[in-house]
Amino acid sequence: MASYNLLLLPGDGIGPEVMAEVKKLIDLFNKKGIAKFSYEEGLVGGACYDAHKVSITDATMAKAEAADAVIFGAVGGPQWDKVPYEVRPEAGLLRLRKDLGLYANLRPAVTYPALADASSLKRELVEGLDIMILRELTGGVYFGEPKTITDLGNGQKRAVDTQVYDTYEIERIGRVAFELARQRGNKVTSMEKRNVMKSGVLWNEVMTDLHAREFKDVQFESQLADSGGMQLVKNPKQFDVVVTDNLFGDMLSDIAAMLTGSLGMLASASLGEVNPKTQKRKALYEPVHGSAPDIAGKGIANPIAMIASFGMALRYSFGMGKEADMVDAAISSVLAHGLRTGDIAAKGEATVSTAEMGQAIAEEIETAAS
Ligand code: NAD
Repeated sequence: MASYNLLLLPGDGIGPEVMAEVKKLIDLFNKKGIAKFSYEEGLVGGACYDAHKVSITDATMAKAEAADAVIFGAVGGPQWDKVPYEVRPEAGLLRLRKDLGLYANLRPAVTYPALADASSLKRELVEGLDIMILRELTGGVYFGEPKTITDLGNGQKRAVDTQVYDTYEIERIGRVAFELARQRGNKVTSMEKRNVMKSGVLWNEVMTDLHAREFKDVQFESQLADSGGMQLVKNPKQFDVVVTDNLFGDMLSDIAAMLTGSLGMLASASLGEVNPKTQKRKALYEPVHGSAPDIAGKGIANPIAMIASFGMALRYSFGMGKEADMVDAAISSVLAHGLRTGDIAAKGEATVSTAEMGQAIAEEIETAAS
């Protein structure tokens, strides 16, 4: 039986509460003999600052480098608002992304039929929606140099950010997009602004070449990012995998997120290079939401985003597609049975706790696996 080594970083606020529900699934998979997971836990964010005065220690970074996957909760909270900038809670997450070279950010937008009315769009537009926004995460205008504000001396200042992409950066994210599409609906839509940006011209050229060279079996189209954003809210089901740069991806993934209803439902994965020796990819899985200080400690957070993130680890790090499908089906089923945490309950609807939701999902998986 395959065995995998996980690093769990629960973090702050509701992080540890939702991570507890992932541990239930790990225990279940181990008990059923489906896989052999071992895990270590580490501190990150404010919790790490309180203990070590940094947001992640070198020792934890070394464990993250060695792990088959990092499962991350959430970081931050008002009690750390005044800590020095370089050791603020988010710095721990940024260091993980940077040092592990996590250049591909996968954000699925899935609308469960039972929750289609929670979307800001009409039910018929989003019911059954299952798309993937793939964002380039380590390049582009957020990191390009020069990045400056210069005093022009005449009462004016000039701010410069630099959008920069090399061929290899576009090609490697494109390859992830086409490979993902082959496992899903077999369609890739690339979004950029080739009409006004040189980086958009190169982006489109590299994607088009890559498609022609290696992925002719996958349907491919390019859209300008602005009209692509419009299409995302007009007719989101036309998409399968949308691949785009860091800046546009930041915006388009948030737009896609709102198609699905609550923050408590949104999973994500960040992937790095494949190690040619081990054929393993560096990877971190985390819910999109933050540490939700307003509800932390109350046992009412929705664990679905965290559980679905673990499901993505099964699919993308461990090749356990069948088990990942089981996790998704279990989530869909408990929702169809009417289970709701407070964030996804309609007015007057009964709610369950974090632990009850996690338990119900684990029980569905256990039944499916027996
Ligand atoms: P947030 O995502 O923590 O919360 C926004 C709202 O959504 C809150 O009302 C919260 O109660 C609700 N919510 C979020 N997740 C939920 C869940 N699983 N179940 C039920 N309700 C949920 O965002 P915020 O309030 O802007 O930020 C709070 C803290 O989290 C800040 O310190 C921020 O910096 C940090 N943050 C961290 C991450 C991360 O760790 N990746 C991401 C975003 C924000």
